Amino acid sequence: MKADICVLPGDGIGVEVIDATLPVLEKAARGFSLEFRHYPAGAQHYAKTGDALPEATFASAKAADAILFGAMGWPEIRYPDGTEIAPQLDLRFRLGLYAGVRPCRAIPGVPLPLADARAKEIDLVVVRESTEGLFASRGKGKVEADREAHDTMVITRKGSERVHEFSFRLAARRKKRLVTCVDKANVFASMAFFRKVFYEVAQRHPGVRANHHYIDATALDMVRKPWEFDVMVTENMFGDILSDLTAALIGGMGMAPSGDIGDDHALFQPCHGSAPDIAGQGRANPAACILSGAMMLDWLAGRTKNEALAQAARRIERAVDEVFASKKATPFEFGGRAGTREIRDAVLSNL
Ligand code: ATP
Repeated sequence: MKADICVLPGDGIGVEVIDATLPVLEKAARGFSLEFRHYPAGAQHYAKTGDALPEATFASAKAADAILFGAMGWPEIRYPDGTEIAPQLDLRFRLGLYAGVRPCRAIPGVPLPLADARAKEIDLVVVRESTEGLFASRGKGKVEADREAHDTMVITRKGSERVHEFSFRLAARRKKRLVTCVDKANVFASMAFFRKVFYEVAQRHPGVRANHHYIDATALDMVRKPWEFDVMVTENMFGDILSDLTAALIGGMGMAPSGDIGDDHALFQPCHGSAPDIAGQGRANPAACILSGAMMLDWLAGRTKNEALAQAARRIERAVDEVFASKKATPFEFGGRAGTREIRDAVLSNL
């Protein structure tokens, strides 16, 4: 079996971590093969051509079996309205990638910022609704007469139902079997509606526990006792913020993988951005991108019923874990001296 992968390296360290990930995926592939096709998109491409996401790139992403994405955006390159170039947001909306899946697992050997020993038990997943919420206002916000500005949050039944359903199915495959709806239902009608639909969907999943938590209390508990959470489903903007916080809990942006998953398409990318502060220096930790590649294989395994893909995903995760457990290579991110290439080589040698 051969899977056609649309590769969008993008900007800054996106290019560097993708370069480190492809050889790992190739080496892990046994019982299947991957065909990587590279396409241009991103801020630098916009600066050159005036087009951040060419139609040919979009068509190839749509036609591929899966999309592997580096990072896009650059602070100095902006649209005329001052917003940043973010084709990842266009891809989520246009391909219906409604579930932003951001696993947060403490890997043994990675230095954790929380002193409490239970931080080692952190193993949660943030599921960020990615096609509506406050981000529905992107490109539509209004500033009236330099006096006031409006951005509108949109929560639909369809959008909420599918992301809640996704979260319950995900939790059913995990140990704790718990889904927490993270919202602000005490203040906003939109959030109360999001929670109402959540409990309706919960009825269909009696084998999974359901509870809710306000976003502000969740911020507190992410520092006090994040090990108690399992799957957390939340609105787009809350998920954007919450998943940077959860990335910090497991060591930093370089450790946090993600998948943007819909019913027909899926895109996998590290949670981090293009990191202009370290781009071009070979210092980026590629673990997040490599683990995103493993998530992609897992997703393809479910789609194709090809167990070899799932086994390859496990091999990659073990190879990454072993790099940190053995302290074979400590990235700059944790005060070590291993650059992108050294981490890649350590993962490859474990494989
Ligand atoms: P975006 O808004 O596009 O997600 P951002 O502004 O949140 O991006 P990032 O590009 O993710 O910012 O970078 C945030 C910080 O994390 C920076 O200091 C960056 O150097 C660091 N960082 C991000 N990714 C990595 C990585 N893979 N390895 C090491 N450090 C990283």
